[in-house]
Amino acid sequence: MDRTQPRDIIFPRKWMSGEFRSFQKTWYDEFDWLDYSEYKDAAYCLYCYLFFNSAKPEKFGSSVFAHQDYVNWKKAKDTFNNHNVCKTHVEARLKCEDFMNQKTNVGRKLVQISKEEEKRYEIRLTASLGVARFLIMQGDAFRGHDESSTSLNKGTYREIIDWYKDKVEIVKEAYEKGSKNCQMLSPDIQKDLTKACAEEVTSVIMDEIRGKKFSMLIDESRDVSIYDEDFDIGDITVLPNELKSFVNRARRTSEFLGCTELGKVAEIMVKTNMNTSYQLVYRLIELTLILPVATASVERIFSAMSIIKTDLRSKMGDEWLNDLMICYNQKEIFRKICNEKIKKRFEEMKKRRMLLPKKLMIASSDE
Ligand SMILES: [Zn+2]
Repeated sequence: MDRTQPRDIIFPRKWMSGEFRSFQKTWYDEFDWLDYSEYKDAAYCLYCYLFFNSAKPEKFGSSVFAHQDYVNWKKAKDTFNNHNVCKTHVEARLKCEDFMNQKTNVGRKLVQISKEEEKRYEIRLTASLGVARFLIMQGDAFRGHDESSTSLNKGTYREIIDWYKDKVEIVKEAYEKGSKNCQMLSPDIQKDLTKACAEEVTSVIMDEIRGKKFSMLIDESRDVSIYDEDFDIGDITVLPNELKSFVNRARRTSEFLGCTELGKVAEIMVKTNMNTSYQLVYRLIELTLILPVATASVERIFSAMSIIKTDLRSKMGDEWLNDLMICYNQKEIFRKICNEKIKKRFEEMKKRRMLLPKKLMIASSDE
């Protein structure tokens, strides 16, 4: 049977618990149900993928291998062994064997189905991302009150996707014929797409700030001492999160009420000792105050909270709001970021989530 089991490719190596790990092609021989998606760098079970029973979530069951992609190479062998004997898998396998006994040449057909599904997933992802980007640029709300498929108003995000499906046949096919396990429509997906956009924008801003700092070092010698201890690579990766948690905290701190100037923000931070608990944010503000060029963009980030936070959105989580805000305020940067970069980040995000066992179980009851 012709399967999705690429052998002559280089499997990407990922840093996991102190070692580089990757998918091993020898696993194909040990587990005859194992397939691998090069596009997602993830493993899945062919039987569970095709004969998935969503009503029965189980720890090593089909939800792990059909509903989601399996990416934790460190525990792969143990998990595969457990999966091999798990009830939902055995049932899926029997169903598959029954099905194959009915017809000849089904194997080839099955492979074709899984390849087509991968294509459909790509189309859904691209369409969903396109709609998300459009709404972010407009500063519009994504969601309505009733998102059931028969609702007359499912919220702008789902309405535009429905419109898109009406206009473009392959998009319609991708959503409707596609696997029901990964429809790219749920609120969590909407949030993750926004987060992927925001992370890309943030990384561009960080690069810009680093670049500016560098040119300042060359241009002026008098303030060199300030720049010496600025941001290193470690700081740059931590900064987005620290910035988010700072914004959350600042919103709950009365001293910041009505504060619109960055200079004032720095002052209040010192007064409330937040300059020590959010050292990187404080350093960023300090740096921004010294560099007039960068001020405009950072100041826009801080003042934008009031623009996007309308009544409709007060229900929204702070994290999502922050992500929307970052993209909305950095439209020029956001517009220039290509879909491929965001999609890649989104896939990485999904994988990271799946490495957390708790989230894995929660996610299986979701989309
Ligand atoms: Zn299985």
